[in-house]
Amino acid sequence: MGLPRVAVFSMGGTISSVDSGGKGVEPTLTGEALVSDVPEIAGVADVSAVSFRQAASGELGVGDLVELAAEIEGRIDGGAAGAVVTQGTDTIEETSFVLDLLVDRGAPVVVTGAMRNPTLPGADGPANLLAAIRVAVSDAARGLGTVVVLNDEIHAARFVRKTHTSNPATFRSDPVGPVGWISEDVPRVVVRPAGKHKVTLPENAQDRPVALYHIALGDDGRLLPEIEEKGYAGLVVEAMGGGHVPSVMVETLEELASKMPVMLASRTGGGEVLRSTYGFIGSETDLIERGLIHTGPLDGRKARLLLTLLLQSGAGREEIAATFDTWLEG
Ligand code: ASP
Repeated sequence: MGLPRVAVFSMGGTISSVDSGGKGVEPTLTGEALVSDVPEIAGVADVSAVSFRQAASGELGVGDLVELAAEIEGRIDGGAAGAVVTQGTDTIEETSFVLDLLVDRGAPVVVTGAMRNPTLPGADGPANLLAAIRVAVSDAARGLGTVVVLNDEIHAARFVRKTHTSNPATFRSDPVGPVGWISEDVPRVVVRPAGKHKVTLPENAQDRPVALYHIALGDDGRLLPEIEEKGYAGLVVEAMGGGHVPSVMVETLEELASKMPVMLASRTGGGEVLRSTYGFIGSETDLIERGLIHTGPLDGRKARLLLTLLLQSGAGREEIAATFDTWLEG
């Protein structure tokens, strides 16, 4: 029997960046070059490398990921044991979550990247790619959904966040921690996240832009009316603490919530949005009464992507609220 097949889709980022003329590194290495740079891969999997995009990860959009998800499902249906995606780390917490929502297969989908580019001492790209491929062929990672593998840790896409600008240990999944790790080349999964939501998009899914608005001290919300005027289909408010905004903006938010889904997330980065603890104007109880929908345990960035896909799938307010409500059970 031959080695398991793995499709590696490269999308640019630091892992594939070299100096292109003295002005700093840029993503120019192809998928083939990334794979051939790590001879150990040949002993682990039969890899086909696809240069899917070649950009800084902030250039990617939901449309790219919808296309990528379909390609990944096609490779898995064609017999691949798993798929690996290499890209810039800036948006991995978002891209991996979109893949987690869209790819509906048991085979592992693993996203990786690098914090130190190939020109630096201690470049981490080769080790991360090899570890990602080991996870992609492992039985342990089957049925886990999309995971992020860097620094010998395995993180569930739904929890992972980039937490440091340059440290190779930048990826964290608070408060649960990584779902597993790679030790002496062996992937070990020790935690399986509860809940599993998939979104199915129609063939002709339309772009449904969703704005993300971060609430800060003393803000009077004067930008909020622009959200509708600029053609957004939904809004995620990253509110203070348990889900609080200054009282001056509640009427505008109520008005917006009568026209589009307006989600209430927390800017704290941990815990669930509260539902019934505080009663002041601008509190979570007040905002939910005014029509905002809580995002449960999802932070603003992840909630924005789930809302985007739900809107693209044609879901209405009830279905959106129910999906966020049952997120941990689904
Ligand atoms: N710093 C980034 C990286 O890790 C740049 C990007 O996300 O493309 O690749």
